[in-house]
Amino acid sequence: MEDKINPPMPYSEILPAYGHGWIRDLFRDANSLLAKAEYESVRRGMREASMYHLNPQDYDHQIDQIMKDGLVFQSIRRVKAGGGFSHTHQDGTDLGPDTLVYGVLARDLDVAAAIVNASQPDKSGDADNVSIGELLGYPECCRKAFAEFWKTTYDPVFEIAANTPGRKLNGDTIIIERGDPRLYVHFRYFGVRIIPWFPCSFNCDASVELAEKWSALMMDIDPETTEALLGILPMESRWDLLNSQIVVNHPYFMGRATSYYTSDNKIVVFR
Ligand SMILES: [Zn+2]
Repeated sequence: MEDKINPPMPYSEILPAYGHGWIRDLFRDANSLLAKAEYESVRRGMREASMYHLNPQDYDHQIDQIMKDGLVFQSIRRVKAGGGFSHTHQDGTDLGPDTLVYGVLARDLDVAAAIVNASQPDKSGDADNVSIGELLGYPECCRKAFAEFWKTTYDPVFEIAANTPGRKLNGDTIIIERGDPRLYVHFRYFGVRIIPWFPCSFNCDASVELAEKWSALMMDIDPETTEALLGILPMESRWDLLNSQIVVNHPYFMGRATSYYTSDNKIVVFR
Protein backbone atom coordinates (compact mmCIF):
# COMPACT_ATOMS: atom_id res chain seq x y z
CA MET A 1 0.00 0.00 0.00
CA GLU A 2 1.18 3.52 -0.70
CA ASP A 3 0.52 4.58 2.84
CA LYS A 4 -0.88 3.20 6.03
CA ILE A 5 -3.83 5.53 6.57
CA ASN A 6 -6.73 3.37 7.60
CA PRO A 7 -9.43 3.39 4.96
CA PRO A 8 -12.73 4.99 5.95
CA MET A 9 -15.66 2.84 6.98
CA PRO A 10 -16.56 0.98 3.79
CA TYR A 11 -19.67 2.09 2.00
CA SER A 12 -21.07 2.08 -1.48
CA GLU A 13 -24.15 3.70 -2.90
CA ILE A 14 -25.70 4.44 -6.24
CA LEU A 15 -27.83 7.36 -7.31
CA PRO A 16 -29.90 6.48 -10.38
CA ALA A 17 -30.00 9.10 -13.13
CA TYR A 18 -33.36 10.85 -13.43
CA GLY A 19 -35.85 8.43 -14.96
CA HIS A 20 -33.69 5.39 -14.27
CA GLY A 21 -34.87 4.33 -10.83
CA TRP A 22 -35.10 0.77 -12.18
CA ILE A 23 -31.32 0.59 -11.86
CA ARG A 24 -31.72 -0.03 -8.12
CA ASP A 25 -33.87 -3.08 -8.81
CA LEU A 26 -31.40 -4.34 -11.38
CA PHE A 27 -28.48 -3.99 -8.99
CA ARG A 28 -30.39 -5.77 -6.23
CA ASP A 29 -31.19 -8.63 -8.63
CA ALA A 30 -27.59 -8.64 -9.86
CA ASN A 31 -26.28 -9.06 -6.31
CA SER A 32 -28.43 -12.07 -5.80
CA LEU A 33 -27.59 -13.50 -9.25
CA LEU A 34 -23.84 -13.16 -8.68
CA ALA A 35 -24.05 -15.00 -5.37
CA LYS A 36 -26.07 -17.76 -7.05
CA ALA A 37 -23.58 -17.97 -9.92
CA GLU A 38 -20.67 -18.36 -7.49
CA TYR A 39 -22.52 -21.17 -5.74
CA GLU A 40 -23.62 -22.84 -8.97
CA SER A 41 -20.12 -22.66 -10.48
CA VAL A 42 -19.03 -25.09 -7.75
CA ARG A 43 -22.17 -27.20 -7.61
CA ARG A 44 -22.10 -27.77 -11.39
CA GLY A 45 -18.39 -28.57 -11.32
CA MET A 46 -17.31 -25.60 -13.42
CA ARG A 47 -14.60 -25.14 -10.77
CA GLU A 48 -13.52 -26.71 -7.50
CA ALA A 49 -14.24 -23.91 -5.04
CA SER A 50 -15.62 -20.45 -4.46
CA MET A 51 -15.38 -17.89 -1.70
CA TYR A 52 -18.68 -17.85 0.16
CA HIS A 53 -20.45 -15.98 2.96
CA LEU A 54 -22.69 -17.58 5.54
CA ASN A 55 -25.32 -15.12 6.65
CA PRO A 56 -26.48 -15.49 10.28
CA GLN A 57 -30.00 -14.64 9.14
CA ASP A 58 -30.09 -17.41 6.59
CA TYR A 59 -27.42 -19.86 7.67
CA ASP A 60 -29.88 -22.69 8.35
CA HIS A 61 -31.05 -22.66 4.72
CA GLN A 62 -27.53 -22.20 3.43
CA ILE A 63 -26.19 -25.18 5.40
CA ASP A 64 -29.15 -27.35 4.39
CA GLN A 65 -28.46 -26.52 0.75
CA ILE A 66 -24.70 -27.14 0.99
CA MET A 67 -25.31 -30.57 2.58
CA LYS A 68 -28.01 -31.51 0.05
CA ASP A 69 -25.67 -30.63 -2.80
CA GLY A 70 -22.86 -32.71 -1.30
CA LEU A 71 -20.56 -29.70 -0.98
CA VAL A 72 -18.42 -28.53 1.96
CA PHE A 73 -17.87 -25.20 3.70
CA GLN A 74 -14.88 -24.12 5.76
CA SER A 75 -14.80 -20.75 7.52
CA ILE A 76 -11.95 -18.26 7.33
CA ARG A 77 -13.17 -15.41 9.51
CA ARG A 78 -16.06 -13.29 10.63
CA VAL A 79 -16.53 -10.08 8.68
CA LYS A 80 -18.78 -7.05 8.86
CA ALA A 81 -21.61 -7.10 6.37
CA GLY A 82 -21.62 -4.46 3.65
CA GLY A 83 -17.87 -4.19 3.16
CA GLY A 84 -18.43 -4.66 -0.53
CA PHE A 85 -14.88 -5.38 -1.66
CA SER A 86 -13.76 -8.62 -3.21
CA HIS A 87 -10.36 -8.54 -1.61
CA THR A 88 -10.58 -6.75 1.68
CA HIS A 89 -12.83 -7.26 4.62
CA GLN A 90 -13.40 -5.48 7.85
CA ASP A 91 -13.13 -8.01 10.61
CA GLY A 92 -16.21 -8.65 12.69
CA THR A 93 -15.99 -10.22 16.12
CA ASP A 94 -19.32 -11.20 17.60
CA LEU A 95 -21.87 -12.91 15.44
CA GLY A 96 -24.91 -10.74 14.91
CA PRO A 97 -27.14 -9.33 12.20
CA ASP A 98 -24.24 -7.30 10.75
CA THR A 99 -21.64 -10.04 10.76
CA LEU A 100 -21.11 -12.67 8.08
CA VAL A 101 -18.94 -15.76 8.15
CA TYR A 102 -16.52 -15.59 5.24
CA GLY A 103 -15.10 -18.85 4.00
CA VAL A 104 -14.79 -21.39 1.23
CA LEU A 105 -17.43 -23.44 -0.51
CA ALA A 106 -15.86 -26.46 -2.22
CA ARG A 107 -16.53 -29.83 -3.75
CA ASP A 108 -13.87 -31.40 -1.60
CA LEU A 109 -12.65 -30.80 1.97
CA ASP A 110 -8.97 -30.91 0.97
CA VAL A 111 -9.46 -28.07 -1.53
CA ALA A 112 -11.39 -26.04 1.05
CA ALA A 113 -8.66 -26.63 3.64
CA ALA A 114 -5.96 -25.61 1.13
CA ILE A 115 -7.73 -22.29 0.49
CA VAL A 116 -8.26 -21.65 4.20
CA ASN A 117 -4.55 -22.34 4.70
CA ALA A 118 -3.50 -20.03 1.85
CA SER A 119 -5.77 -17.32 3.28
CA GLN A 120 -3.78 -17.05 6.51
CA PRO A 121 -1.74 -13.84 6.56
CA ASP A 122 2.01 -14.26 6.06
CA LYS A 123 4.68 -12.11 7.78
CA SER A 124 3.74 -9.08 5.69
CA GLY A 125 0.07 -9.62 6.49
CA ASP A 126 -0.92 -10.88 3.03
CA ALA A 127 -2.66 -14.08 2.00
CA ASP A 128 -1.11 -16.33 -0.66
CA ASN A 129 -3.25 -14.82 -3.42
CA VAL A 130 -1.53 -16.69 -6.24
CA SER A 131 -2.38 -20.09 -4.72
CA ILE A 132 -5.91 -18.97 -3.84
CA GLY A 133 -6.47 -17.73 -7.40
CA GLU A 134 -5.32 -21.07 -8.78
CA LEU A 135 -7.60 -23.06 -6.47
CA LEU A 136 -10.50 -20.77 -7.46
CA GLY A 137 -9.83 -21.53 -11.13
CA TYR A 138 -8.68 -18.05 -12.25
CA PRO A 139 -6.42 -17.64 -15.33
CA GLU A 140 -2.68 -17.89 -14.69
CA CYS A 141 -1.81 -14.58 -16.41
CA CYS A 142 -4.36 -12.78 -14.22
CA ARG A 143 -3.12 -14.44 -11.01
CA LYS A 144 0.42 -13.31 -11.75
CA ALA A 145 -0.69 -9.78 -12.61
CA PHE A 146 -2.81 -9.60 -9.47
CA ALA A 147 0.21 -10.51 -7.31
CA GLU A 148 1.99 -7.49 -8.83
CA PHE A 149 -1.00 -5.15 -8.50
CA TRP A 150 -1.42 -6.24 -4.89
CA LYS A 151 1.95 -4.73 -3.96
CA THR A 152 0.49 -1.24 -4.37
CA THR A 153 -3.29 -1.61 -4.28
CA TYR A 154 -6.15 -3.94 -3.46
CA ASP A 155 -8.41 -2.14 -5.95
CA PRO A 156 -6.47 -2.37 -9.23
CA VAL A 157 -8.92 -0.87 -11.77
CA PHE A 158 -6.39 1.78 -12.85
CA GLU A 159 -3.54 -0.75 -12.90
CA ILE A 160 -5.53 -3.20 -15.08
CA ALA A 161 -6.31 -0.31 -17.44
CA ALA A 162 -2.61 0.64 -17.55
CA ASN A 163 -1.83 -2.98 -18.47
CA THR A 164 -4.44 -3.14 -21.28
CA PRO A 165 -3.05 -3.32 -24.84
CA GLY A 166 -4.49 -0.55 -27.03
CA ARG A 167 -5.24 1.79 -24.11
CA LYS A 168 -5.04 5.50 -24.84
CA LEU A 169 -3.92 8.31 -22.60
CA ASN A 170 -5.38 11.78 -22.23
CA GLY A 171 -3.09 13.45 -19.70
CA ASP A 172 -3.16 11.03 -16.77
CA THR A 173 -6.54 9.60 -17.75
CA ILE A 174 -6.52 6.12 -19.28
CA ILE A 175 -9.06 5.50 -22.02
CA ILE A 176 -10.18 1.94 -22.74
CA GLU A 177 -11.86 1.64 -26.12
CA ARG A 178 -11.70 -2.03 -26.98
CA GLY A 179 -12.10 -3.77 -23.67
CA ASP A 180 -14.45 -6.71 -23.26
CA PRO A 181 -17.23 -5.33 -21.01
CA ARG A 182 -17.59 -8.76 -19.39
CA LEU A 183 -14.15 -8.14 -17.86
CA TYR A 184 -15.08 -4.76 -16.38
CA VAL A 185 -14.71 -4.75 -12.60
CA HIS A 186 -15.34 -1.07 -11.87
CA PHE A 187 -19.04 -1.52 -10.99
CA ARG A 188 -18.32 -4.33 -8.55
CA TYR A 189 -18.54 -1.99 -5.52
CA PHE A 190 -22.25 -1.95 -6.30
CA GLY A 191 -22.46 -5.70 -6.83
CA VAL A 192 -22.36 -5.54 -10.62
CA ARG A 193 -19.91 -7.61 -12.66
CA ILE A 194 -19.69 -10.79 -14.68
CA ILE A 195 -16.35 -12.28 -13.63
CA PRO A 196 -15.40 -12.71 -9.95
CA TRP A 197 -11.65 -12.15 -10.46
CA PHE A 198 -9.43 -9.24 -11.49
CA PRO A 199 -8.29 -9.72 -15.11
CA CYS A 200 -4.69 -8.84 -16.05
CA SER A 201 -6.07 -6.50 -18.72
CA PHE A 202 -9.50 -5.49 -19.97
CA ASN A 203 -9.04 -7.67 -23.03
CA CYS A 204 -7.13 -10.63 -21.57
CA ASP A 205 -7.83 -13.63 -23.87
CA ALA A 206 -7.92 -16.21 -21.05
CA SER A 207 -10.40 -14.07 -19.11
CA VAL A 208 -12.57 -13.53 -22.18
CA GLU A 209 -12.72 -17.29 -22.70
CA LEU A 210 -13.69 -17.92 -19.08
CA ALA A 211 -16.08 -14.92 -19.03
CA GLU A 212 -17.98 -16.67 -21.81
CA LYS A 213 -18.66 -19.58 -19.42
CA TRP A 214 -19.61 -17.23 -16.58
CA SER A 215 -22.06 -15.24 -18.68
CA ALA A 216 -23.57 -18.50 -19.97
CA LEU A 217 -23.98 -19.75 -16.40
CA MET A 218 -25.60 -16.47 -15.34
CA MET A 219 -27.84 -16.51 -18.41
CA ASP A 220 -28.98 -19.98 -17.40
CA ILE A 221 -29.80 -18.88 -13.83
CA ASP A 222 -31.46 -15.52 -14.61
CA PRO A 223 -31.57 -14.51 -18.29
CA GLU A 224 -33.41 -11.22 -17.75
CA THR A 225 -30.92 -9.83 -15.22
CA THR A 226 -27.92 -11.14 -17.18
CA GLU A 227 -29.12 -9.48 -20.37
CA ALA A 228 -29.70 -6.20 -18.53
CA LEU A 229 -26.16 -6.36 -17.08
CA LEU A 230 -24.67 -7.13 -20.48
CA GLY A 231 -26.60 -4.10 -21.72
CA ILE A 232 -25.25 -1.56 -19.19
CA LEU A 233 -21.63 -2.77 -18.94
CA PRO A 234 -20.59 -1.68 -22.49
CA MET A 235 -22.00 1.85 -22.19
CA GLU A 236 -19.51 4.69 -21.74
CA SER A 237 -18.52 5.13 -18.09
CA ARG A 238 -15.89 6.88 -16.04
CA TRP A 239 -14.08 5.65 -12.92
CA ASP A 240 -12.39 8.24 -10.74
CA LEU A 241 -10.39 7.62 -7.55
CA LEU A 242 -9.22 10.44 -5.29
CA ASN A 243 -8.54 10.37 -1.55
CA SER A 244 -9.97 6.86 -1.21
CA GLN A 245 -13.26 8.03 -2.76
CA ILE A 246 -14.38 6.33 -5.94
CA VAL A 247 -16.91 8.03 -8.19
CA VAL A 248 -18.32 6.07 -11.11
CA ASN A 249 -20.36 7.91 -13.72
CA HIS A 250 -22.61 6.02 -16.08
CA PRO A 251 -25.51 7.32 -18.22
CA TYR A 252 -27.96 5.50 -15.91
CA PHE A 253 -26.39 6.12 -12.49
CA MET A 254 -23.68 7.69 -10.41
CA GLY A 255 -21.98 5.46 -7.88
CA ARG A 256 -19.73 6.23 -4.94
CA ALA A 257 -17.64 3.85 -2.89
CA THR A 258 -14.59 3.77 -0.66
CA SER A 259 -11.25 2.46 -1.84
CA TYR A 260 -7.62 3.00 -0.79
CA TYR A 261 -5.80 6.27 -0.17
CA THR A 262 -3.60 7.46 -2.98
CA SER A 263 -2.01 10.83 -3.59
CA ASP A 264 -2.81 10.64 -7.30
CA ASN A 265 -6.16 11.23 -8.93
CA LYS A 266 -6.60 8.03 -10.95
CA ILE A 267 -9.14 8.13 -13.78
CA VAL A 268 -10.19 5.49 -16.31
CA VAL A 269 -12.73 6.14 -19.06
CA PHE A 270 -14.43 3.13 -20.68
CA ARG A 271 -15.83 3.69 -24.18
ZN1 LIG B 1 -5.12 -12.59 -17.86
